[in-house]
Amino acid sequence: MSETKIREEICLLGKSMFDRGLTVGSSGNISVRNDDGWLMTPTNSCLGRLDPATLSKVDAKGNLLSGDKQTKESFLHLSVYGERPTAGAIVHLHSTHSVAVSCLADVDSKQPIPPITPYYVMKIGNLVLLPYYAPGDMTLANAVKEVAGKHHAILLANHGPIVAGKDLESAVYATEELEETAKLYLLLRGNRLKILTPEQVAELHRKWPQ
Ligand code: ZN
Repeated sequence: MSETKIREEICLLGKSMFDRGLTVGSSGNISVRNDDGWLMTPTNSCLGRLDPATLSKVDAKGNLLSGDKQTKESFLHLSVYGERPTAGAIVHLHSTHSVAVSCLADVDSKQPIPPITPYYVMKIGNLVLLPYYAPGDMTLANAVKEVAGKHHAILLANHGPIVAGKDLESAVYATEELEETAKLYLLLRGNRLKILTPEQVAELHRKWPQ
């Protein structure tokens, strides 16, 4: 895909997520790997009103090559790309239901959301919850690096999800599946759950490997 197309797609899908309330204000950020660097959403930008011409372009060290200054959370994106050579795009949101799950006191960090639907298993599968880090705490980059090789979807406690995909569309779809499943899970809390069995999960992973 040409850089022009990628720029347009970032703005189109950013607006789509904003219009549906998946992100509000200037929160959330998107990045896409390109031949000569990464295209990222600028700092303090609203995903609903991105301009293809002013998106940030950065190198692997996070240096700005062109455009507006990149998101302050660019280090999270680069930490994941460093561990996932096949990742083509990353979406990070402060989406309400996913954040709500990340704030629960009794959540299992190795499985913050149980396998309640096959679609969740196929698109997210192996979510991991990292502990809370204050905004701007760069030691979060190391925590992300430690798990990003094994997990394409990471939930930051009291903060939100980071989801990598082979391309932007895949990363957006997976992020949406995570948000909807978080909503379902919260709706179901307090009820006895009938979750997918380990055999059913294993079969899905066999058929649709991540
Ligand atoms: Zn964030």
